Formats: sequence, structure tokens, C-alpha cells
Amino acid sequence: MSSTQIPPAVVFSDWDGTITSIDSNDYLTDNLGFGKDERERLNEEMISLRFNFRDAFTLMLESINHPFSECIDLLKSEIPLDPGFKGFYEWCKSQGIPVIVVSSGMRPIIKALLLNYLDDPSAAEELEIYANDTEFGEDGSWKIKWRHPESGFGHDKSITIKKYISDAAYPEGKRPHFFYCGDGVSDLSAARETDLLFAKKGMDLVTYCEREGVPYTTFTDFQDIWDGVRDVVEGKKTIEEVRQEKK
Ligand SMILES: [Mg+2]
Repeated sequence: MSSTQIPPAVVFSDWDGTITSIDSNDYLTDNLGFGKDERERLNEEMISLRFNFRDAFTLMLESINHPFSECIDLLKSEIPLDPGFKGFYEWCKSQGIPVIVVSSGMRPIIKALLLNYLDDPSAAEELEIYANDTEFGEDGSWKIKWRHPESGFGHDKSITIKKYISDAAYPEGKRPHFFYCGDGVSDLSAARETDLLFAKKGMDLVTYCEREGVPYTTFTDFQDIWDGVRDVVEGKKTIEEVRQEKK
């Protein structure tokens, strides 16, 4: 890799509840599956580490007995894109900053929503996505196909991020700034892997970081992330200064 190809930053981001304003899997579970009370109970178990994400999420998805196409149609009409994301993504492209989606959801749902939001197939193709997949049965049934089935996270985001960084083989002393943006339990595996973690204000990832002493800053929407990343890339602030500006 020549030095001209080294981006100033790489932004890894969770998808559900981070790039989207509402978590699509929570929405499906609450409205087509066993409902919000049971989902929140399982969520508590996950935050307390009494239940792993993979097994809890499997139960949630198994409770959704509706055709996949019906789920996609519902999500397209009900799940909004984060209000700051489009502008942030355009700016990242103009700066040569890769935005990498690292999701514990399923690729076909992410792809369908992305196409719906960006309304431009080539722009939707450009966004690199690491997620679980979906397996379809001949009877029309569907289930999640885990990226790392042996992990309690189903998709261990730390493995994906470490591999991305090692594959990029940045020359010694010339690596980009690495950022991660997330909101929930599925991000715990990624929380310690980058230089600066943006955790969504008021959400489970903040609770976890406080309890475990993981350094982080907060964001409300991607405009906050944009401000922070830009200030670091332009040399106006250090990572530490941005971290201390909790919104
Ligand atoms: Mg999330």
C-alpha cells in the first residue's frame, strides 16, 4: 500500500439503531414476534451477561413467524435512516474515508433498507457490509446464518475489525484513526477495538461502557459523529479532546 492510499480515518459502524434510528430487529420482534416485554426482559439478561446475544437474538427471530418479504416491506416503511448519516457518508466519500458496516443483523435486510434510503444502487453497493446472512427454506421459512456461530455474539465484531485492519497492512506509524459507532449489546465485542468509540446517548452500550470502564464519547445522531471525526481528521482536536465532549 503506498502512502497516498492511506485514508485519514476508517469509520466502523453498527447498523441497527445507529445508522438506522430504530433497531429493525427490535421492531420486528415487538410487532410481529413475541413483543416488547419479553424482548426487554431478554435484553436485561444480555446486559447482565446472563444470556449471550446469539441465543437471545435467535429466540427473538424465531418468534417472528412472517414471510421475509413481509418483514422487509414493513421495515422499509417504518425504520428511518439516522438524520445525519447521508451527509456524513457523502463527506466521508469526498475525504476517502471508508465507512464499514459491522452488524449483528442480516445482510438482506441491511441491503434492502440501504437501497431504499440512498435510492441509488451504485451508492448502496459502495458501502462495505460485514453482517450475518439469512438462510431460506423451500417452504418459505427463514433463519439467521451466523458469521461466527461459535461465538456468543454470533458475529464477533472484534474479529471482523481486527481482520480488516490487519488485511489493510498499513505501513508502520502511518495507520488511520479508527472510529466505532454503536448503540447496544451487539457492540460490546467491538467496544475496545478502535481509537474512539461513539456510543449512542441513553442506550445500552453507554451502560455497559460505564460499568466496564471502557472509554467512550456519546452521540445523538451522525451529525455529532461527523463533527468529532472531522475535528480529528483536520487536526483541530485530539481523540482525547473529542472523547471528553460527551453530548
Ligand atoms: Mg445496534
